[in-house]
Amino acid sequence: MSTPAALFRHLPSTDAALQYLEADPLLAALPRDLRKDAATAFLDMLRAAIKDGRIDNAAHLADAVLFPQLAAFVRRAGQPHFCRVLNATGVVVHTNLGRSLLAEEAIQAVTQANRYYSNLEFDLDSGERGSRYSHVEALICRLTGAEAALVVNNNAAAVLLMLATLCQGQEVIVSRGQLVEIGGSFRIPDVMARSGAILKEVGATNRTHPRDYENAITDQTAALLKVHTSNFRIIGFTREVSLAELREIGGRHGLPVLEDLGSGTFFDFSTIGLHGEPTVREVLAQGADVVTCSGDKVLGGPQAGIIMGRKQFIDPIKKNPLNRALRIDKMTLAALEATLRLYLDPAQARERIPTLRMLAMTHEALRQKAGRLARRLRKELGAGVRVSTCPGASRVGGGAFPERDLPTTLVELDTTGMGLSPDELQRRLLESDPPLVGRIERNRFCLDPRTLLDEELPLATTVLRSAIIS
Ligand SMILES: *Cc1c(COP(=O)(O)O)cnc(C)c1O
Repeated sequence: MSTPAALFRHLPSTDAALQYLEADPLLAALPRDLRKDAATAFLDMLRAAIKDGRIDNAAHLADAVLFPQLAAFVRRAGQPHFCRVLNATGVVVHTNLGRSLLAEEAIQAVTQANRYYSNLEFDLDSGERGSRYSHVEALICRLTGAEAALVVNNNAAAVLLMLATLCQGQEVIVSRGQLVEIGGSFRIPDVMARSGAILKEVGATNRTHPRDYENAITDQTAALLKVHTSNFRIIGFTREVSLAELREIGGRHGLPVLEDLGSGTFFDFSTIGLHGEPTVREVLAQGADVVTCSGDKVLGGPQAGIIMGRKQFIDPIKKNPLNRALRIDKMTLAALEATLRLYLDPAQARERIPTLRMLAMTHEALRQKAGRLARRLRKELGAGVRVSTCPGASRVGGGAFPERDLPTTLVELDTTGMGLSPDELQRRLLESDPPLVGRIERNRFCLDPRTLLDEELPLATTVLRSAIIS
């Protein structure tokens, strides 16, 4: 135990710290100011720790202890903040971890779009200005049966633009059971308010009847809106008005039916045993006039919002000046076209698009992958760690198939024998390079192999080894 005043004298000077850093070629290569600011921040942190008693022993301040910590701190400061993460959560469309991974074809297309000039807005037939939407519109129409389509920055933008164009200053009728908050800060009622449309809520939270819509229609009504209840399910005593019923009411009153599908899919998930999410083609065939969905949820493409449906409604949406503020960039367009082209052959889409591939993994394939990971870990982590596999559940995520568990096999780590709690292990893994995100269940740290790529199993093992054996 020493007094703070005595401890302060053990701190190295900034000059000494910088000299140490310059001896390491990797750190010496960092911009000088960055190195200096990081070293200063590190020393400030130590001073604060001495002041409030977290450091009370001069041994913690010896050069041999401090300098390697300083080097690690500066190395982290010199690294990009936005970085790769290993996703062992089993949540396939994990919004916080970047949603969908792109298919190799899409990655190649993005590279090309960045490295070279392109016909982004150039019509090669006429040699004159063209439309950036021309690259994907026909493809979307072919895949969904829509008459026309456009793409914008994301689905929130799609909903905003659709309502701002078709319903500004007028009323939109929507069921109370569908006024969803998606997470982050996306709430349907708030977006609607920004669009200038006036929200007319009908029904009760659990039950809405056709007559509720019917009774709410006035000469101020512009549209009937259906919103996908992406992240929750209302169960029990419920009644939802079907799209066919809305179509019928809309038809009698000359009102368009709009649907915010949220995730939206071009792939028939019932073919892989996941039921309950209709394809966009089915929704349009059931009579929706305009449908919006995300590009990077279960569609498995880049962040984008797709607006598709009847030409008479899509045309004015395309012409809305707001569209210019919400437009997608060339990288997104390149990735989206490449992803959508894979859907021309559903078997190919399922094989090539990582989101679909992860969702379609069979129970047996997951069991084997968990086995491979467990064997690797047993070999690398030594006898102090108990590695086992057990049945568990993955999630689709991204607001599709809410509350629906996908059976998986988890790899569980028990490190308590080495005095390492699951919480401490989790903390160390978040500090790893790359960080690994898993989950804690029944007081064990668990990895779900569904969201780890095959090629990532060795890296995940190395990361776990350093975190546990450090
Ligand atoms: C996810 C979601 C949105 C927002 O889509 P983004 O592409 O994230 O902007 C909007 N509506 C519903 C119903 C959703 O599930």
